[in-house]
Amino acid sequence: MKILAILYNGGQAAEQESRLLGTVENQLGIREWLTSQGHEFIGECSIPLLAGRLSNARRLYSKEGPDSDFQKHIVDAEVLITTPFHPGYLTRDLIEKAKNLKICVTAGVGSDHIDLNAAVDHRIQVLEVSGSNVVSVAEHVVMSILLLVRNFVPAHEMIERGDWQVSEIARNAFDLENKVVGTIGAGRIGYRVLQRLVPFDCKELLYYDYAPLPPDAAKAVKARRVEDLKEFVSQCDVVTVNCPLHEGTLGLINAELLKHFKKGAWLVNTARGAICDKDAVAEALKSGQLAGYAGDVWNVQPAPKDHIWRTMKNTLGGGNGMVPHYSGTTLDAQARYAKGVKDILANYFEGKPQDPQNIIVGLGKYETRAYGQR
Ligand code: NAD
Repeated sequence: MKILAILYNGGQAAEQESRLLGTVENQLGIREWLTSQGHEFIGECSIPLLAGRLSNARRLYSKEGPDSDFQKHIVDAEVLITTPFHPGYLTRDLIEKAKNLKICVTAGVGSDHIDLNAAVDHRIQVLEVSGSNVVSVAEHVVMSILLLVRNFVPAHEMIERGDWQVSEIARNAFDLENKVVGTIGAGRIGYRVLQRLVPFDCKELLYYDYAPLPPDAAKAVKARRVEDLKEFVSQCDVVTVNCPLHEGTLGLINAELLKHFKKGAWLVNTARGAICDKDAVAEALKSGQLAGYAGDVWNVQPAPKDHIWRTMKNTLGGGNGMVPHYSGTTLDAQARYAKGVKDILANYFEGKPQDPQNIIVGLGKYETRAYGQR
């Protein structure tokens, strides 16, 4: 069986740190296991580390180009493994060329880099390792909320510059206590964020999700559901985005919705970059409508060097907590999703049923309600 994995060049870090499993160098730790069973494993296909580091990388590794390793091998691969961190984008076009493809496995959580509707149409299964990195992301969300509310990044930059002007930082630093925090999406990550916020004594915890939390779960974190999105954002001091990217969430946070945010609210998005309109967010930060934006996900990954989210600032020159896509790929998370990929493959080889919570697209239909209401 031909198995294709689209990973990324981990470089020196991956040579020195074997727990960096999502890299070309370490190949999820499954090469020997696969080849010893007689499978053909193509695990060297990589995508450029930096889109800005241009032409050579693009020519060699382009995800879209007809000469890319991805396009060359997808035509006869039966299994495709990808990661959301440096995604190999499996478009409808590529799916139509992939005549032998039966199953796509996402090493992590979030399979929007795959055209899921096309996978349904072509009866290609899509599985992810549900839950594998949800704690990792929830911790990152709480950290990002705190670093925005407390104005951490400019404070640290000041220290590195050799300056010491407390008032410049304190003029825009607040406590999280007594603020209203709301999550768009209260699934595995969103709920874990709410759980982790309980000890901060926020004024209120809110959520917006078409799937209501079970009453006991909502009660345990004292979370109130708000069913109208505009009403929801208008009540929050902090909004955190924790829903998948699909037709119903693409560009959900746009210029129109941002008008309904409280002036000076903070927005944290570790779900998917394209859920927020890139330019509308930058503009809202510049105008003071948002006091801060933080997250690790971008509308294009790797983000181009001149992506406005790298350098955008609020009216006081701070409010940017952006990092590369790594919240869900801590070394702890990598161990979990690499094991999860192996388990999914083992089930597939042996014809055993898959863990239902991992199935996003089954044979010809969606098996989850998280990727949109259909
Ligand atoms: P989940 O399936 O457990 O929960 C998703 C929740 O979002 C569900 O409750 C669903 O009903 C809700 N939802 C879907 N569409 C919605 C909409 N239009 N409005 C409001 N709510 C909506 O998924 P999860 O494990 O919590 O992960 C959520 C997302 O986080 C993933 O799909 C992925 O995009 C992202 N993620 C990011 C990282 C990272 O490293 N940054 C890692 C893991 C997951």
